[in-house]
Amino acid sequence: MSTSAPSALVVGAGVAGIQAALDLADAGVKVVLVERGDSIGGRMAQTDKTFPTLDCSSCTLTPRTVEAESHPNVRLITRAELTGLTRAGSSFEAEITIRPRYVDLERCVSCGRCSEACRLAGKVLSEFDLGMGNVSAIGVPFPQAVPSTYAVAPEHCLMLRFGKCGKGPKCAEACDVDAIDFDEEERVERLEVGAVILATGYDLYDPADSAIGRPELDFRDNPRVITNLQFERLSSASGPTQGKLLVGGVEPKRIVFIQCVGSRDRTTGAAYCSRVCCMVSLKQAVLALEKLPGVEATILYMDIRAFGKGYEEFMERAQRLGAKLRRGAPSEIFAMGDEVVVRVEDTLLGGTEEMACDLVVLAAGLRPRSGSEGLAAIANLTVEEDGFFATHKRDPAGGLGEGVFVAGACGGPMDIPDAVASGSAAAGAALESLLGVGGG
Ligand SMILES: Cc1cc2nc3c(=O)[nH]c(=O)nc-3n(C[C@H](O)[C@H](O)[C@H](O)COP(=O)(O)OP(=O)(O)OC[C@H]3O[C@@H](n4cnc5c(N)ncnc54)[C@H](O)[C@@H]3O)c2cc1C
Ligand code: SF4
Ligand code: SF4
Repeated sequence: MSTSAPSALVVGAGVAGIQAALDLADAGVKVVLVERGDSIGGRMAQTDKTFPTLDCSSCTLTPRTVEAESHPNVRLITRAELTGLTRAGSSFEAEITIRPRYVDLERCVSCGRCSEACRLAGKVLSEFDLGMGNVSAIGVPFPQAVPSTYAVAPEHCLMLRFGKCGKGPKCAEACDVDAIDFDEEERVERLEVGAVILATGYDLYDPADSAIGRPELDFRDNPRVITNLQFERLSSASGPTQGKLLVGGVEPKRIVFIQCVGSRDRTTGAAYCSRVCCMVSLKQAVLALEKLPGVEATILYMDIRAFGKGYEEFMERAQRLGAKLRRGAPSEIFAMGDEVVVRVEDTLLGGTEEMACDLVVLAAGLRPRSGSEGLAAIANLTVEEDGFFATHKRDPAGGLGEGVFVAGACGGPMDIPDAVASGSAAAGAALESLLGVGGG
């Protein structure tokens, strides 16, 4: 890339990285936006509606993802990661490793014929829908994906796993524009950039993790016990049930939400509060009450943290709609016939109770991205004790390395408004450093 105009690298294209990239691009900076997944959008793309306004998540996000793809100052690279970063005077040389999509970005017209024709159509569990829907070995993760170019999943595709797909790849036969290329190889690009922003977001706590999971919650063995992110996919019109809240094909009549699963609990490796999950459960209780009139929605909490603008009012709205808030610590969840039973200790009045219900939603906490330590080593950043990237206490956008900045939930759990603000703050700090003002 030419360095005549200031240039920056943004790693991770969730809502925070997109915001940072667009702010920089609007200021005339040439931005390379590198995303590990097949599409940009991050976790917000998996979310149905957003608290406290219940705006449709993809309606808010899609204009931003489309703008990022079409902005003349943004170059988007997907299936890509930062694998090296070295200082070269006042700038950096960044090494980007790009995995093949096996589909030509220029040729593919996103018609979907390959996906329909794929020998594995309907047999591959959807990663985007968290294992709750079935897809093909070639496709896009969700309908509004950016880029809309299809991509082959190498861990599933028969051709890529075994070098053979029946008598020949049906996907390639179905593609009228000859876009599929199984000979595409991984490649490495080296770019010179003036500033780097890491915006790699978070992973969700896995209650079934073999080391730090909570086996007493029966997650994974019981299809009636799901995580909050799975609830988002069930509730979403583009999800596996087209937005219908169904468990085993039937609408639940009683839903119990359990807070702080993998948060504020040292036995699971996280002493911190994940900040968003109280509001997420309140939102999901409201969505359930609106979709399923007469449903019982009970939230078992340690204490409700509704900290943001309009959040307390949203909690009151949820209660007015019928959401029941109970202080309780669940000790066990088990199946009983078609029901699921939550054994809970009432931490306000004392005593233990068994609550029968049809669906349990675990408010799984936010965790550092897997691989954060490796990325921190590459970018010369520090990782805090909680596993998130260290940021300046007075200047959360300022990474501790010169010219390297942190945006969004990779610096610690945060909601979408804070992630957007943090993306803008990181862009501002990067701009100061590029222009040599403000001591960046
Ligand atoms: C169930 C649930 C519901 C939620 N609902 C709401 C809500 O209603 N309202 C609200 O305000 N907040 C909500 N949140 C919080 C919201 O998800 C986060 O605030 C937001 O996603 C943070 O954005 P981000 O860009 O920092 O991270 P992410 O959304 O995680 O995006 C990070 C991006 O970086 C990419 N990436 C990761 N590692 C690499 C790498 N090494 N190289 C390149 N790319 C990489 C990822 O693929 C991803 O695209 C919810 C959270 C959960 C768990
Ligand atoms: S090669 Fe076969 S398995 Fe792979 S995407 Fe094409 S049809 Fe599906
Ligand atoms: S790869 Fe070919 S068949 Fe598949 S979506 Fe693209 S153009 Fe259509």
